[in-house]
This record gives sequence, C-alpha cells and structure tokens, in this order.
Amino acid sequence: MIKVDLHSHSTISDGLMTPSELVRHAASQGVQVLALTDHDDVAGIDEARAAAVDSAITLIAGTEISVTWRNRTLHILGLRIDPQHPALQQGLARIRESRFGRAEGIASELEKIGIQGSLEGARQFASEGIIGRTHFARFLIANGHAKDMKTVFKRYLIKGKPGYVPHLWASLEEALSWILAAGGQPVIAHPGRYDLGRTLLDDLFNEFKLLGGVGIEVVSGSHHPEQYGQFADLAHKHGLLSSRGSDYHGPGHSYMSMGRLPDLPSQCQPVWHDWKEVRALAA
Ligand code: AMP
Ligand code: MN
Ligand code: MN
Ligand code: MN
Repeated sequence: MIKVDLHSHSTISDGLMTPSELVRHAASQGVQVLALTDHDDVAGIDEARAAAVDSAITLIAGTEISVTWRNRTLHILGLRIDPQHPALQQGLARIRESRFGRAEGIASELEKIGIQGSLEGARQFASEGIIGRTHFARFLIANGHAKDMKTVFKRYLIKGKPGYVPHLWASLEEALSWILAAGGQPVIAHPGRYDLGRTLLDDLFNEFKLLGGVGIEVVSGSHHPEQYGQFADLAHKHGLLSSRGSDYHGPGHSYMSMGRLPDLPSQCQPVWHDWKEVRALAA
C-alpha cells in the first residue's frame, strides 16, 4: 500500500518542525503522500507545498478544525481544501482569535495556583500561528512543573484540572460548511479519543454524514491497535471512507513516529481511493 499520512502538525500550530522541515522529515521516512493539517490554520501550506516539490513527496492541503459538539471538543480534518477560500479563511480566523481570550483565561487560572507569567511563556513556544494548550504545556515543562507532555496535561490542562478553561469552538455544521465550500473532504479525526459510547458515536457519524462528512480516521497515531478494526467496522456500517494519519507533532511530542503507521484494514475504502495525485503514484 502507498504510504499515506493524512494528519500532521507544523510550528504554525503546535508541531515542533517548520512546514518545510516536516515535509523533508516525512520524505526521509518514506512517506509518499502527506497532509499538513495544522489546528485552525492553513498558513503553512504554501511553504509545505514548495518543500514537497523539492522532496518528491505529494502534499495534501489540510487543516484540523476545533469543534464543539454536544458540550465536547471534537477535531474535524478538512483534506484537499483550497486554503485560499474566503469562507474557510474567515472561519479559521475567528477560531484563532477566540484562542487568545482562552489563553488569557488559562494564564489567569494558572496564576491562581501560583504559576506566574504563563501567557508570555506559552507565547514564546508559539510561532506566528495559533496559541493552544500544547504551548502552555511546553512552558510548564520548561519551568519544572511536570516532567513530560503526558504528565503536564494530566496535572494541569485537561477537564477538571487547574489550567483547564472551557471553550466554545465552531459548530460541527460550520466546520463542515467551510471545508465543503473550500472543495475539501471532511474527516473525523481520532474518533477513539473522545470517549463517546456507541450511541453517541452513532449519533455523531449520522449527523456528520448528513452535513456532508465523508470519512473517519481509522488508523491514527492516537488509536490503540484494537481500535483500528472497531472503527473500520463503524466506517463500513455508516458508509464512510477511512483515513490514516500519524498526528505527528515532532520528535518526542507525538503518539506515533512518522512513516510507522500500519496499513488500513483490508475491508476499508480509503478516503484517497479516487484522488488523482495518489492514482498517479500507484500507476
Ligand atoms: P488545544 O486545541 O489548544 O486545546 O490543544 C489540543 C492539543 O493538545 C492536541 O492537538 C494535542 O496536540 C495536545 N494534547 C491534548 N491532550 C493531550 C495529552 N493528554 N497529551 C499530550 N498532548 C495532548
Ligand atoms: Mn496538537
Ligand atoms: Mn486532534
Ligand atoms: Mn492533530
């Protein structure tokens, strides 16, 4: 099977590599088709595309949109988008702006437990793109509040912990409308991470499909191997295509190294089955 990785992050969001470093790294690990899917941003696509030409790797323009659905945060990938599309650009800009207020909220919550200067600290770990919890996590680790990413999220940044601030992201309907307007394919990122029971998952997949959603991540860096088969079955049941992505954030900050993802289970119809840029490679 062609080595396709449809989920990755650069310094534009919370990855550790610049878009061109990321593309070169992916190519060096044998990835043939890479989607750059920064959180709520498409600012890295041009640079990634240029680097892909030099590295002989196929770059898919993407983004990972933060969504609030039934009081939970979900991530929806938009694959093969036109990054210039105004509706998509305006929607993403709105989410990015709302992240600043949330970041101030996180900093003031952390101040209450005696951690000063986290907003400036987190900003230093963020480049020109979004600010998010990962940047706070890096600041907290650098200042000795936790030893690694796993611990810092568990101790400070997840629901119920001192630095967690609830936030209203885009609606599912908005995210899909922007992706579809931009000519892209909506895919639910890491559905196994949301802790949804079977009924809620069915509700989500039904609603997603009605809104124009086409696929779910089956093989994801943040799925356990036993979840691959479960989500392959659910994709089949709902008539959804299957995707595959490492969710790479950089060395030591990822669930999965690049180029190490297993193939999709054989019963899956890949989301890229009719993409001409992938067909050209298979030929
Ligand atoms: P945000 O969109 O600002 O809420 O940040 C979400 C990002 O935080 C995710 O994309 C991951 O990169 C990171 N993240 C969330 N939970 C964890 C965790 N338990 N361990 C490590 N990173 C996490
Ligand atoms: Mn992330
Ligand atoms: Mn995600
Ligand atoms: Mn991601």
